[in-house]
Amino acid sequence: MTIYTGPVFEMAAQQFSLTADHLEIPDNERARLLYPKRALAVSIPINMDDGRTEVFQGYRVQHHLTLGPTKGGTRFSANLDVGEVAALAIWMSWKCALAGLPYGGAKGGVACDPPSLSRRELESVSRRYMQEMIPFVSPQTDIMAPDMGTNEQVMAWFMDTYSMYQGHAVNEIVTGKPVSLGGTEGRREATGRGVAHLVNRAADAIGLTLGGGTAIVQGFGNVGSVSAYTLARRYGMTITGVSDHTAALFDPAGLPLDAIERHVAAHGVLAGFTNAAAIGGAELLEQPCDVLVPAAMERVITAANAPRLRCRILAEGANGPVTPDADEVLDRRRDELFVIPDILCNSGGVIVSYFEWVQDLQRLFWTEAEVNDRLEHLLDGAFTQVQRRAKERRVSNRMAAMAVGVEKVRAGKKLRGLFP
Ligand code: NAD
Repeated sequence: MTIYTGPVFEMAAQQFSLTADHLEIPDNERARLLYPKRALAVSIPINMDDGRTEVFQGYRVQHHLTLGPTKGGTRFSANLDVGEVAALAIWMSWKCALAGLPYGGAKGGVACDPPSLSRRELESVSRRYMQEMIPFVSPQTDIMAPDMGTNEQVMAWFMDTYSMYQGHAVNEIVTGKPVSLGGTEGRREATGRGVAHLVNRAADAIGLTLGGGTAIVQGFGNVGSVSAYTLARRYGMTITGVSDHTAALFDPAGLPLDAIERHVAAHGVLAGFTNAAAIGGAELLEQPCDVLVPAAMERVITAANAPRLRCRILAEGANGPVTPDADEVLDRRRDELFVIPDILCNSGGVIVSYFEWVQDLQRLFWTEAEVNDRLEHLLDGAFTQVQRRAKERRVSNRMAAMAVGVEKVRAGKKLRGLFP
């Protein structure tokens, strides 16, 4: 019996089981590596603007504390459950280990729909959630960050709430804060920038020229929009498709990214930009392009649409966008389609979050150029490890990335032993 259920948790468990088979990890060690160390569920009562009291469910899951404190984002989304949060925490563990960060994985969130909340209601949910988390988190045990549905402002409320209870400013309790509150230069752009940097490495590996090539990006939030701008502005790609939960646009001649950026800044969503280039969201993923970046949500590439993808590089900006069934299909297409797996592809976010925590602890801040140099250095190291392992063991990039991450956590657990 476990409290961790649902399709996203099943997916994380299945990926782990395949990796454990590949690494020949004895059954006896598997549960200790897979199941989260701790989880907290809270009820968050909020006085709504219309006078009702609504109770939201909130969660935080800490996967393992073997290599240091846990680290992970906070997701505000309507259908969130503890199984999804646990899966995301597990993926964070492999991601941090692969990048060589001294963290275990964590994740948290509240089952709520941010667009339907007023700013006051959102602030109340954020503050009450953090207040309930105080016995469970600290800069030495678990450090939060943004994820879907949360942003710098929410992190500022988290930091303020935690600090008010401590009696002094504790900037290092969250990352992804505004720079003026101890956030780091380059954090907001870090995940998308990392996605584009790794796409460039992948293009080198398969002999593809990015300049003049085409890219399609699903999701136009933090990760998707920065990935699109960076691929276009830094690497000279033409963005032919973008989507969010309200609309999808496709134009083989290229979309006007600057005008789309202004529209989304003004209205918050893509809907209403133009109907001329409208296409179905699922159909968009199957259009021909050099680079496809799913940067929205889990399980959008399945065994059904994987055979129909027409990209050369699949860059997983989102966490868990590809199901294990789809992985089997993509593995058979390995020679024509290069996958940058999520735990590598979107690791720029947690890497720069780590830099933010380090800068907060030492009260010494770096320039954006220093942050970006260090980011690229760590990404390059992780990319090289994955490539080497995939070639040596003749496994997929995902299996290689997972194997490196799981092995590091396993080695830490072996060295520390079992207490008491
Ligand atoms: P966000 O809330 O800023 O943006 C999410 C975007 O996805 C929005 O544009 C939303 O409209 C879109 N979306 C939602 N449902 C969709 C659908 N059905 N079809 C198309 N688009 C849809 O979130 P984010 O921070 O950009 O995170 C996106 C993904 O990247 C998540 O999987 C998250 O876990 C992952 N991630 C984020 C970071 C980070 O630093 N923010 C780091 C690593 C991984």
